[in-house]
Amino acid sequence: MSSFESNQQAAREFLQPFADSVTAHFINGERVVPRATETFDNLTPTDNSSLGRVAAGSAEDVNAACEAAENAFPDWRDMPGQQRKKLLHHFADKIEARAEEIALVESMDCGQPIRFMQQAAIRGAANFRFFADRAPEARNGLSLHQDEHTNYTLRTAIGPVAVITPWNTPFMLATWKIAPALAAGCTVVHKPAELSPLSAMLLADISREAGLPPGVWNTVNGFGEVAGRTLTEHPAIKAVALVGETATGSHIMRQGADTLKRMHFELGGKNPVLVFDDADFERALDAVVFMIYSLNGQRCTSSSRLLVQSGIRDRFIAALEKRVKALQVGHPLDPATEVGPLVHTGHFDKVMSYMDIAREDGATIAVGGTRREDLGKGNYISPTLFTGADNSMRIAREEIFGPVLTVIDFETEQEAVQIANDTPYGLSAYAWTSDTGRAMRLARDIETGMLWINSENNRNLPSPFGGIKMSGIGRDGGDYSFDFYMETKNVCIAHDRHTVPVLGRPA
Ligand code: NAD
Repeated sequence: MSSFESNQQAAREFLQPFADSVTAHFINGERVVPRATETFDNLTPTDNSSLGRVAAGSAEDVNAACEAAENAFPDWRDMPGQQRKKLLHHFADKIEARAEEIALVESMDCGQPIRFMQQAAIRGAANFRFFADRAPEARNGLSLHQDEHTNYTLRTAIGPVAVITPWNTPFMLATWKIAPALAAGCTVVHKPAELSPLSAMLLADISREAGLPPGVWNTVNGFGEVAGRTLTEHPAIKAVALVGETATGSHIMRQGADTLKRMHFELGGKNPVLVFDDADFERALDAVVFMIYSLNGQRCTSSSRLLVQSGIRDRFIAALEKRVKALQVGHPLDPATEVGPLVHTGHFDKVMSYMDIAREDGATIAVGGTRREDLGKGNYISPTLFTGADNSMRIAREEIFGPVLTVIDFETEQEAVQIANDTPYGLSAYAWTSDTGRAMRLARDIETGMLWINSENNRNLPSPFGGIKMSGIGRDGGDYSFDFYMETKNVCIAHDRHTVPVLGRPA
């Protein structure tokens, strides 16, 4: 049996429970299927057949989850950090034990190739271990001395929090947001994306297996308009961590306004990669291809605008065309697949609509631009390369979120910076150059939350992750995550020597 066939067989077994019963909610330590509940079909992008029914969570369901999170909060907050650390490491052990199941279910649910999803499951466990190790010290703030006073800060968990995640890499993103919340001492209500809910239920099950007390982890499935909205308006929820589209961030900010929720948004991007004449040609080429065509281009930090300097432009584009034509499009469970199907027919139609937009704007579709009819009923698209574009075109301004790259050329460093910054977004940027001084100037001048120089998207868990402009508010990673999920209290203690001003004492 080929490894593709054995993946398919294993996936069928792992997916059977989702076909047998409705995927509903996880509240107060139990899987819950409400009696009166609306459900919807969860389709696999591989052929748009149903993987099972999913509950569209109601306001009542969300209220029950928020209540459970609120009740569980004081004990979880006060649990010694060492004990939380142990539980969260145990959680990571359980993820590793089920890594194959997670990867296969995730691939079938959201269409991401198995070669990337295996990695995502392992990274999910690493996220838990990283924050588990920091749990015992999370409450420690700064100590600041003055001559006659000592100030020190204490941090305490902010309360129950909402974590709302998208469909592109659901498992990895959920762990990235939830692990620090739990390590900080917050309880969680998670609302996964309606288009890819399955790995979130595996996580909820793992939370029980790992021994998290009931109510510490809750999951409510459903749509943004009802489940998401109720969650972000609920008075028990003290903070909302969203990964999603920019427009969703605006909605949630309005929804949370009455209860003054703290917000952390990781939103969309239209990230540039700048390739200068003096770049290491082959490494830059590898990175350019990887950073837009991996994960089906459904990646927030994908470099979807290639800015290439005129001296190497023709040679670089010719090499790029060859690579894009050679990309292996196919079933996500096939280990040879490099680009899988897009998550949903609606998203597929959106991505395909940019082919006409590109033509209307006067760009050239140098590679791709068509549906892969030969691959059947799934949402398969041929990886696409637009050339002859300028930065005013919609294909250069709007987040397409698919395996689609727009190429724009430039002459000078100054022009490259101007084009890179001419966007409402500011999530990430990439630059390839062998000139150190230029690298330093780019680091100063490019308006972005994250910049990788001579590197693809390398992640370091203590480093800040997040965007500026319309790409987000706040940072994840290391202590940045704790700052979001915790309140800081300053305590000022006098050394008993300073002069207290005297009022009203008779002379
Ligand atoms: P989306 O904004 O449509 O949905 C994200 C989540 O928000 C879903 O769970 C959805 O149900 C929920 N939601 C929608 N409306 C809501 C509302 N009114 N109230 C509460 N919740 C609501 O995003 P998507 O299409 O699932 O994901 C793709 C987007 O996510 C892209 O824009 C991508 O760039 C972005 N993303 C950003 C990052 C990052 O780190 N910056 C990472 C991954 C994805």
